[in-house]
Amino acid sequence: MTYTSDGNESIPTDFDDVVQQVSTGTLAHQRIDELLLEAHERYSDVDEGLLAHYIPVLGQVEPETFAISMSHVGGTVHGVGDCHHQFSIQSISKMFVYALVLQEHGHEVVHEKIGVNNTGMPFNSVMAVELNNGHPMNPMVNAGAIATTEMIAGKSAAKKWENVREGLSAFAGRPLTLDDEVYESESEANERNKALGRLLKSYGQLDGDPNNAVDIYTKQCSLNVTAHDLAVMGATLADGGINPVTGQQVVSADVCRDTLATVATNGLYERSGDWLFEIGIPAKSGVSGGIVAVAPGKGAIGAFSPRLDMAGNSVRGQLAIGHLSRALGLNLFASAPDSAR
Ligand code: GLU
Repeated sequence: MTYTSDGNESIPTDFDDVVQQVSTGTLAHQRIDELLLEAHERYSDVDEGLLAHYIPVLGQVEPETFAISMSHVGGTVHGVGDCHHQFSIQSISKMFVYALVLQEHGHEVVHEKIGVNNTGMPFNSVMAVELNNGHPMNPMVNAGAIATTEMIAGKSAAKKWENVREGLSAFAGRPLTLDDEVYESESEANERNKALGRLLKSYGQLDGDPNNAVDIYTKQCSLNVTAHDLAVMGATLADGGINPVTGQQVVSADVCRDTLATVATNGLYERSGDWLFEIGIPAKSGVSGGIVAVAPGKGAIGAFSPRLDMAGNSVRGQLAIGHLSRALGLNLFASAPDSAR
């Protein structure tokens, strides 16, 4: 039996030499346009939720903006609403930086160092770190994300940032740029993340300067994307690591599998269990109002609407993705009785 550095017994594994087969079904892609329109119309009037307020500029956005995009692994991207409206990627960056770090360091090292288990606590919890002897727990909470960003290749902070920006741009299939206003606003309001960085350092979980790691993390959260970009980025993880629009192999198929498993258990903050129970596909949300949901082997949905529930997830985004997951048969846990019987 092996143990990860969070002190937990890891589940037994003994299948490295077994060739992995993949079975994911097909996507009814001829219905995507019609279903996107249906979901957009159905949830446009929902006005529940609040804008994020703890990063000052995020509280000043237009609350009605609503976009849903879907990219099929075949490379066609569909969209309805404000699909080219730009917003900062925020926490959604965590899953793509994690994928780059898995690619760089491999399954075992990253599993051991960052972990994969849900904390059950808010994304910026200090208590979660303390309760787990300084272990960051998983890459989708801020402590784990800061530790993950620190593992990006590059000898200097500038090189690491360049690798983050280039890596995320390869997922999107276009050069992503920094939203300076968001970066400055968040840099002035990120004392808690700096505290998390120092706490990790005190436990020996960061090698370098914690302020550099937090600064790169703040920059990665401030990269601008659109719902269209999120759909393409997610579809790259649905497509064995090949960006379906550019054809570039961004990460390996194994990295996609590991990333999506971690996202499934941790992607919707402390509502991740509810999400998997109701919607049934790996998804990651961010406090600016974006959500990306990935159906392995089929495609991905990028949704944006800035009003959030109490955990920080876009209200309309969750509804739209739930609708599409059901109507397109994306739920990983759903089955029907064998028709040959
Ligand atoms: N940059 C935000 C933070 O670190 C991201 C939060 C989020 O989207 O969950 O607080």
